[in-house]
Amino acid sequence: MTLAKTPNTKNTLNPFLTLNYEPALASLGDDYYDEVVAAEFPQHTLRWRNDDLLPALGLNPQDVEDEDFLTAFSLFQGRKPFLALRYHGYQFGEYNPQLGDGRGFLYGQVRGRDGQLYDFGTKGSGRTPYSRGGDGMLTLKGGVREVLAAEALHQLGVKTSRCLSMIETGLSLWRGDEPSPTRSSVMVRMSSSHIRFGTFERLYYIQRHDLIQKLLDHVIEHYYSHLVNEPDKYALFYGELVRRVAELVAQWMAAGFCHGVLNTDNMSITGESFDYGPYAFIPTYDPYFTAAYFDYYKRYCYSQQPGICQLNLELLQQPLRSVVNKADLEAGLAKFGDDYFAAYRSLMLKKLGFEQLTIPEADELLRLTMQFLQDSQVGYHYFFAEMARTFSAKWRDEPGLILNLSDVLPTADKSAIFDNWCFIYHQILNNFHPDEMENIAKTLNYYNPKTALLRPVIESIWEPIVQEDNWQPFNNLLQTIKERG
Ligand code: AMP
Ligand code: MG
Repeated sequence: MTLAKTPNTKNTLNPFLTLNYEPALASLGDDYYDEVVAAEFPQHTLRWRNDDLLPALGLNPQDVEDEDFLTAFSLFQGRKPFLALRYHGYQFGEYNPQLGDGRGFLYGQVRGRDGQLYDFGTKGSGRTPYSRGGDGMLTLKGGVREVLAAEALHQLGVKTSRCLSMIETGLSLWRGDEPSPTRSSVMVRMSSSHIRFGTFERLYYIQRHDLIQKLLDHVIEHYYSHLVNEPDKYALFYGELVRRVAELVAQWMAAGFCHGVLNTDNMSITGESFDYGPYAFIPTYDPYFTAAYFDYYKRYCYSQQPGICQLNLELLQQPLRSVVNKADLEAGLAKFGDDYFAAYRSLMLKKLGFEQLTIPEADELLRLTMQFLQDSQVGYHYFFAEMARTFSAKWRDEPGLILNLSDVLPTADKSAIFDNWCFIYHQILNNFHPDEMENIAKTLNYYNPKTALLRPVIESIWEPIVQEDNWQPFNNLLQTIKERG
């Protein structure tokens, strides 16, 4: 729908404006942000509203009109101040003190029904003191891609921010990586927090150790509240952050997701995944698959993600050292590897149908699965989806039936690894009672959605939008990525 730029008469009833906003970050004082104003746009067309998120905010989707989204999140009526957060970050290994919210701001913070604090953060809402040469805008395709990434990752069990709304804003933008002029959007992201590793790095860089402690207390109070009364809360916080990041990167790896730009300004202090720019889901198991075309040295390629996250956690020690002692930080980080592998192992076994598997063959199965996926270059997501689609209780008794109804089965001359894989999978199935085969089928279906958000899939829904402003394939895709077998 399109809304003319006239003032909204039902402003006072807009459910988004009646939410209980808590100025948690604003209460820290203006050392951490700048107040900014939103851009004005020539067009306000709601392209996506995430009704799934509304109940968590205490809102009934039926009580929220499209116009409410538009008034709140593109006309930006009725709420202020908006805060552009200050941060720095290591980008591709180089420290960059020229960052900060350059095309978005903190719209507001709201307590969810679950008692957690959530941020509404905009992207594409205009220039700020940190825009440098940029226009402060988000392309429509960038908005579409981020909406899709967040929803797909959420379906895959990744702890992620999600988009609350995406509105087309009627500007023509010029970008080097999209056919230009290209259309514009403003997106609102709901996340656990927009405080980044880079928020702390900036405070260290400007030598404000007092502000580091204040921010850390704030982070613990709101996002690690169970630690507030612990005498060694700072060390415990870092240990838990390490665990959360290890689990997150394990979730990405199992989901076959390559974030693309793992700079420290894109790492959340809550261990949540966010900021989906040039990301990609891997088409096949290729350790060197690199999502960002400008990542010339494959720094953030698929298989580097755990190591890079570990490095980013190590870089964060520098600012945290003014509050936490070195030995505690090192002890916290030392657990990263074990935490990562335990989480990754458990997630991959689930993708293979096993909620829990403690027998020694489990590790051999994982090793052979990776080897088969890498050698055969069969589709990563397709392989697991085909496991889910073709699984039969008969596989337990007859190994020759395993995946035999699928075209992932290699030709005879290339079947050595597959045969080994089949052998071990069959052996493991034999550790289960026949009655348990149904649970394995359910697990396979639950953890392996039918549709993967591969790049050609995104391009296929983008094309009708460009050609004929047809949003049906986009909406259909948002439904299909929820589907299980
Ligand atoms: P990102 O790549 O979105 O993580 O952004 C990296 C930095 O560049 C952040 O400081 C952004 O705010 C800034 N930035 C990215 N795109 C733009 C833009 N179009 N206008 C202004 N700043 C931008
Ligand atoms: Mg970013």
